[in-house]
Amino acid sequence: MPFRSFGLDPGILSAVRKSGYTQPTPVQEAAIPRILQGNDVIAIAQTGTGKTAAFVLPMLHRFIQGPRDEKRRIRGLILAPTRELAIQIMENIRHYGQSLPLRVAAIHGGVGEEAQVSAIQKGVHILVATPGRLIDLKERHRLDFRSLETLVLDEADRMLHMGFLPDIEKILSWLPVKRQTLMFSATFPKEVESLARRFQHQPKMIQIGKRSNPADNVNQSVYEVQPHLKGPLLRELLRTVGFDRVLVFVRMKDGANRLTTFLQESGVKVARLHSSRSQEQRLKALRDFKEGRIQVLVATDIVARGIDIDGVTHVVNYDFPVNPEDYVHRIGRTGRAEHSGEAISFVPRQDLNLLGILELFIGRRLPRKKLRSFDYTAAPAPRSPGEPQPKKDWRKRTREREARQSAAPPPARPPGKSADKRGKPRP
Ligand code: AMP
Repeated sequence: MPFRSFGLDPGILSAVRKSGYTQPTPVQEAAIPRILQGNDVIAIAQTGTGKTAAFVLPMLHRFIQGPRDEKRRIRGLILAPTRELAIQIMENIRHYGQSLPLRVAAIHGGVGEEAQVSAIQKGVHILVATPGRLIDLKERHRLDFRSLETLVLDEADRMLHMGFLPDIEKILSWLPVKRQTLMFSATFPKEVESLARRFQHQPKMIQIGKRSNPADNVNQSVYEVQPHLKGPLLRELLRTVGFDRVLVFVRMKDGANRLTTFLQESGVKVARLHSSRSQEQRLKALRDFKEGRIQVLVATDIVARGIDIDGVTHVVNYDFPVNPEDYVHRIGRTGRAEHSGEAISFVPRQDLNLLGILELFIGRRLPRKKLRSFDYTAAPAPRSPGEPQPKKDWRKRTREREARQSAAPPPARPPGKSADKRGKPRP
């Protein structure tokens, strides 16, 4: 189906052509006609599916129907969880609406508010905002939503698991009841469903792909275990439960090296994949794994992402993933093509909050398991002289890195180039 069959304004179509798109993506094909008809829509689609254009194109089209709006009243409001995403959406709107008489601004935390206030005071038709900054500005400046026609909640699941529900409720209380409400979310946990029930009117549901809903044929479980007992517990599981082809995820390459040595010394056939391994070493590890010469492959996320590893019967989250999306991606390595698979996560006490966030993200509680034959109370072994000293806590490192990232605004990125919008702190 070509873009022109939607009946979009020629100016919009010409901007789409400039982006080089030839065909709408599935989410665009499903969402654009429904949004053009004025329906409320809930679309379950991840970043990377073309979801931004799926709501921006029909929204722009609707706004330029009828007489030109010289008064610059706010007609569209888009809420997004992070400033990076807010900026990116604004850039998309500027690009797709480059020939249209519509003004857009983004308001978000992390930068001074003067420029944002001045943009609003000059008048905008479309406002892209993170919830916290919008509330700050609304309470001190005049933001008039009486002309609002369309509200978009982008990455709704992420806004909820970042704790924005009270802010969203407050913002919704300022908006006209008669409006179009569009919700985009990577997953559909019950919190998002309840948001849709409360704030949408007979929404049309669109679900694209299943990548973010962990495969139904993967059995998932959690072992609560102290950090120093993760290696011994894995060894015990391998010994007693009869795992076949096991992909083990660790956070850092040092950890991958240490775990590989530990398993080797325990007689397990194991290889490792991380960024310091040569191409030749990686290929050999993959071949040995595929052909059954090794039972366990220890890998970091970054390396595992780019490669296709087949026939995995078990995925072990030896280090619990920081991002829910990584969890979904990791466990998708098993249970492929109608085969059932098993995903096991080791969760020390300090990672229980991450587990909670994940459970909210996937919309279900994961069953807790215990291996009866294992002693969960054993003390850590004394450190042997050659062993590396413990490194700075990874969580602290992650926080420091995120603080550095949010200190500098991301470079402007024209639509048409893919961009990473994940995992940033609350703006
Ligand atoms: P999004 O899911 O909105 O983050 O979009 C992901 C990427 O897909 C962005 O780089 C878009 O520019 C690009 N994109 C959006 N729509 C299309 C399309 N119909 N054909 C090709 N690429 C697209």
